[in-house]
Amino acid sequence: EAPVSERYVLGEEIGCGSYGRALLAQRIEDGQPVVVKQIRLFEMDEKARLDTLTEAKLLAQFNHVNIVHYYECLLEGGVLNIVMEYASGGDLAAAIQRRQADKKPFSEEEIMFWFVQVVLALYHVHGKKVLHRDLKSQNIFIAEGNLLKLGDFGIARVLNSDTELAKTVIGSPYYLSPEICEDRPYNRKSDVWSLGCVLYELATLRRAFDGCSLPALVVKILRGKYPPVPSRYSSNLKGLIESMLKQNPKDRPGAEAILRSDFVRSHVERYA
Ligand code: ADP
Ligand code: MG
Repeated sequence: EAPVSERYVLGEEIGCGSYGRALLAQRIEDGQPVVVKQIRLFEMDEKARLDTLTEAKLLAQFNHVNIVHYYECLLEGGVLNIVMEYASGGDLAAAIQRRQADKKPFSEEEIMFWFVQVVLALYHVHGKKVLHRDLKSQNIFIAEGNLLKLGDFGIARVLNSDTELAKTVIGSPYYLSPEICEDRPYNRKSDVWSLGCVLYELATLRRAFDGCSLPALVVKILRGKYPPVPSRYSSNLKGLIESMLKQNPKDRPGAEAILRSDFVRSHVERYA
């Protein structure tokens, strides 16, 4: 197999985490910009190594405009290089922060244009019996034409592959659902909770649940109260947020039910 450097010109670092780093790169063949996520397998124990390989495998089986497209995987010198589509607009968290800094809220149209895309992505993922488990605005990327791409399947899991509880608190805990706080199993509705947090963030430019320590945050999540959504938004939008942030996972709508609701459908039809 051709080494990475024969196929790609590696450029600047655009993200880094415990796994390694994400680099902007250019495919030599056609000059197309791509992202190469480099994961240092050699430093990992057996389990972490398997986790990593699942990210690559999962990405490979999705084929959806609203999911970061996977191109290929190259293993070289103990480093796994996952090559994927580059979304040039940065992540949604940064876009929200900019609006917060400019004190310029998103219109309901803008919010719903984006939200619909993420629900479509989640519906696709859940349809393949996969849980994302790390849905948050930092893991949703903005591409040309204001298209959103769900990415970072680093801790995603195939449903029912084991009965593992999602105990590991990875990265930002602000999107943890009540069931995870209480050590109950992760399920599709836990992803819906996190998506509800993202929708709330788009509407208020703030996190739904915030705290200066993990215990303080968990208390807030389990209380389930959040500052009200501004009155400029419709009661439909407020109701949607409320439904996704129900304490009991069973009371939250699934991705399909969200897409079927009159409110969301009216927005889907607008962009179809
Ligand atoms: P992790 O959160 O595990 O560090 P991510 O895949 O979320 O890994 O990548 C980290 C950051 O790198 C993202 O928040 C984003 O800003 C950037 N990034 C990652 N993949 C892409 C991509 N395909 N297109 C654009 N930016 C990306
Ligand atoms: Mg991430």
